[in-house]
Amino acid sequence: MSNLPTTEALRDRARASLERIGVTIPEGDDLQARSPITGEHLFGLRATTAEQVEQAIGEATDAFRIWRTTPAPARGELVRTLGELLRTHKSDLADLITIEAGKIRSEALGEVQEMIDICEFAVGLSRQLYGRTIASERPGHRLAETWHPLGVVGVISAFNFPAAVWSWNTAIALVCGDAVVWKPSELTPLVSLAASHLLDRAIEQTGAPRELHRLLLADRTAGELLVDDPRVALVSATGSTRMGREVAPRVAARFGRVLLELGGNNATVVAPSADLDLALQGIVFAAAGTAGQRCTTLRRLIAHRDVADQLVDRLATVYGRLPIGDPFDENTLVGPLITDAAADAMAAALDRAQAEGGKIVAGGRRVETAGGAYVEPAIVRMPKQTAIVREETFAPILYVLTYDTFDEAVALHNDVPQGLSSSIFTRDQQEAERFLAADGSDCGIANVNIGTSGAEIGGAFGGEKETGGGRESGSDAWRAYMRRATNTVNYSSTLSLAQNVSFL
Ligand code: NAD
Repeated sequence: MSNLPTTEALRDRARASLERIGVTIPEGDDLQARSPITGEHLFGLRATTAEQVEQAIGEATDAFRIWRTTPAPARGELVRTLGELLRTHKSDLADLITIEAGKIRSEALGEVQEMIDICEFAVGLSRQLYGRTIASERPGHRLAETWHPLGVVGVISAFNFPAAVWSWNTAIALVCGDAVVWKPSELTPLVSLAASHLLDRAIEQTGAPRELHRLLLADRTAGELLVDDPRVALVSATGSTRMGREVAPRVAARFGRVLLELGGNNATVVAPSADLDLALQGIVFAAAGTAGQRCTTLRRLIAHRDVADQLVDRLATVYGRLPIGDPFDENTLVGPLITDAAADAMAAALDRAQAEGGKIVAGGRRVETAGGAYVEPAIVRMPKQTAIVREETFAPILYVLTYDTFDEAVALHNDVPQGLSSSIFTRDQQEAERFLAADGSDCGIANVNIGTSGAEIGGAFGGEKETGGGRESGSDAWRAYMRRATNTVNYSSTLSLAQNVSFL
């Protein structure tokens, strides 16, 4: 394991990035900014009070009233400017992501690239918020649908994509004519201050309403205020299934809209015909990348009995050489877990897996350091899909199951409560198509000859079952951020009723 930077060095680096972006740190005692690299405190911060949350939602509501009548292509100009600022400060924002979320440098830069990509996508979208024209059954009538801005969007986000998830929601919401109030993870306040400030700068440069975006720097209680406020038309919440279970009924109780992006328990099927070199690369990135802390992380490997031993042996060899340590070190591939509690949860899951008949074939130990929760990614062979395998443990544990028939593989694959991402490695086209078919993978993301993680922004992102059913980012995900109106226009001089009803 490489030497870790000191907390003082991280603090200086964070301060320098924030200064270049233009952020003044709101110092105080309410919240802590810390780094998982050393596990130590960086800055004390002032939190947003309940009164300020109330005020922020009010201001965003007022800004929405102006923004909704601004033409969509002009709204796109704001998002284009944000994208340019993100390009300028890509390295600064990536530094903060590494410091607060522990991502290795290339993944932190990748996260900012994803933000730039969604801005570009949203700018294009600002001229493509298409409605349909529908054939009317009545002569002299036109039937059409129009899409209007929805209102204030409350964004609640998780620690592991501290900036990208916000940008997926915000770039699209802004071109759709909405205002945004953001409650980021309490574990990543510096990243949120930086991202939010870049948007404030874009707002100032383009003359958009100043209160179009409000940041709530606070713990989950501020999230709860957003959830319960009837002025928040859409709550887009990304995080654990536990959180979604609390949020969804509360928003439903006031007939608000939710968009949920919750936990995953993603699997890859490796068929006997698979290119094992390709599978190996795909599996290692998906399972050990981001130290197993992606919602799309590969957690279950379902390998055909003919290839399982060979594949597991090769994986164990690669796992034995994975460089673990300082995420700023260019050679490191596995950075720290977010907290000690995450490492404890991993250890507890491994104990349970062994009690349920599992055998650890690689990794699984905590790496002793002066600070930070560093772990060796683990591979565990399981006799069957036991209770622990069906849960999401947010750490790098890959459970291996074996199968004999394709139907058995699909049944194992789908027999978990979550439904986010999935993939199959095969050179058999029929098998690949069956995996993607209606009775194949039940996930929102189903891939062939590629891993489960690392989606592009062009497609809709999200999953089924306990993953929450929401879709964000590309394709037509924008529709969740707008309201649809159906318009019937009579340009004849006769009032004809639908379904030939006669009256008067
Ligand atoms: P978390 O659920 O602990 O917290 C997520 C956010 O929800 C935080 O901002 C938190 O303050 C807030 N929150 C928690 N309880 C709340 C409540 N009752 N009301 C309002 N807000 C509340 O999740 P985490 O540990 O930060 O992130 C890891 C989890 O997120 C994993 O389960 C992962 O799979 C999931 N995740 C999903 C996606 C996806 O797109 N499906 C993306 C990233 C992360």
